[in-house]
Amino acid sequence: MSAYTNELAGAFVTPPITLPQLVPSRTCLQCDVCCRFPDPDSALRPYFTENEITRALTGGVEGAAFPNRRGSQVILAPDHHGDGYFCPAFDVATSTCRIYEQRPLDCQLYPLALMWDEAHDQVLLGWDTKCPFMREEIPGEIQRHADRVMALLDQQDIRDQVVAHPRLIGRFQEDVVMLTRLPRLTEAMASQWGPVPLHRLTVDDIPRMTAALDRSGWCRAQSLAAYSPVYHYMWNGLLAYWWMELQGTFYLFAQSPDGWFMPLPPIGAGLIDEPLSVAMGLLQRWNGDSPVSRVENVPSQLVPELERLGYRLTPKEPDYLYRATDLAALVGDRYKSQRALCNRFEREQSFEVGLYRVGDRQDCRALLGDWSRQKQSEGLESFGAMLLADATPAHEVVWSQASAFRLTGKVVRIHGRLCAYTFGYWLTSATFCVLLEVTDRTLPGLAQYLFRETCRTVVAEGAEYINTMDDAGLPGLRASKQAYHPTMLIPNFVASLARES
Ligand code: SF4
Repeated sequence: MSAYTNELAGAFVTPPITLPQLVPSRTCLQCDVCCRFPDPDSALRPYFTENEITRALTGGVEGAAFPNRRGSQVILAPDHHGDGYFCPAFDVATSTCRIYEQRPLDCQLYPLALMWDEAHDQVLLGWDTKCPFMREEIPGEIQRHADRVMALLDQQDIRDQVVAHPRLIGRFQEDVVMLTRLPRLTEAMASQWGPVPLHRLTVDDIPRMTAALDRSGWCRAQSLAAYSPVYHYMWNGLLAYWWMELQGTFYLFAQSPDGWFMPLPPIGAGLIDEPLSVAMGLLQRWNGDSPVSRVENVPSQLVPELERLGYRLTPKEPDYLYRATDLAALVGDRYKSQRALCNRFEREQSFEVGLYRVGDRQDCRALLGDWSRQKQSEGLESFGAMLLADATPAHEVVWSQASAFRLTGKVVRIHGRLCAYTFGYWLTSATFCVLLEVTDRTLPGLAQYLFRETCRTVVAEGAEYINTMDDAGLPGLRASKQAYHPTMLIPNFVASLARES
């Protein structure tokens, strides 16, 4: 009996919701639109509620596909023979859904779709013109089908499920034709989640978040690396990110298996007290009195004000900040070992360094697999092993969205084989952050060489500082970051509501 089957043995599973189908299955089988996605973070990847996850596990879908067992969008599986991604329940050989009879409400609805209107005021039921069948169907038949589905969606139990899982309602899409408004569902959503529209964070929202960070003035050369959208967005496969804007302040929320928290303080140009009180009020509304309600990545300059407001501030691992010229030159005794390793790599290997291109994705995937196996064979602390397991979906997002986030990516090839890659971003014009680096660990000096090359490139482009982020509390990582002699450890705090003792 597998771990997942064991886990399911005592689970209570409510009967599935069954909606009428408009598109005949023989038509679906000949089509290649559904169940396939161009990017790992596609907003349209299916959402499963807790019960639907339980049924999917029983149907043989891997537990790793569901980052939050209480309800989550699936982690998509890469197409190893092409460029895109599949739903993990999709059988590529037969082009069918392996759990068709238990597929989630999200999939049953299709080609109808629940979505917000453009102003995010009203929930709508629409039909998706991307479905080839719908383009040929008679409008009257679509409307009759929609009426039947709408009557079911109006049932209290189904409405409650949708309200409990706000991701079931998608963002406005221009190619989805509105059939009807759903005022009762709109009202139920507002009473559960609050009057301010809450949006799922997608790539399209990044300019808005960047503009808010620019307005706030919090993003400086010595700021935490977290003051950049990609730092958060890359975890979009594992966590659900949401945002809202109120009176010029941008609020970023993350929904984890434990509950809701803020990965950053409210981002605005004015005083923090009112926005923070709004944010904490919402977190408490969604989490109850769970201690999970918190604000992460609080910079030291906000600490006195937050303490005055009665919040409890707890330090967490700081970011490592280096003088860029130190790392580009590696001069002197203190960098002797890193310099020797760089020299050894240059001496022993015939290699090429190039810019990352999206076509490198398959090779990066193969390297990440090898690297994970190498790390595991070295024996990892349990937290390190957990981080490793979470790394793949985050790297998939980075490979896929590198150009959207203006990431600088480099790859190293030896005799054509990709054996290292790294990505980073400019936090400001003076500070470059190294987001990730993966190298073949059997090649001595490769990691040190690639890091120095990255630093040399960004110094030539004007970098004064290199930020390599925190050490996640891992002693090995801490030692290697310390060995490069940081010029500063940037303090980082978590703010939570002070509890009565
Ligand atoms: S659950 Fe089935 S129908 Fe839904 S996207 Fe996955 S494979 Fe397709």
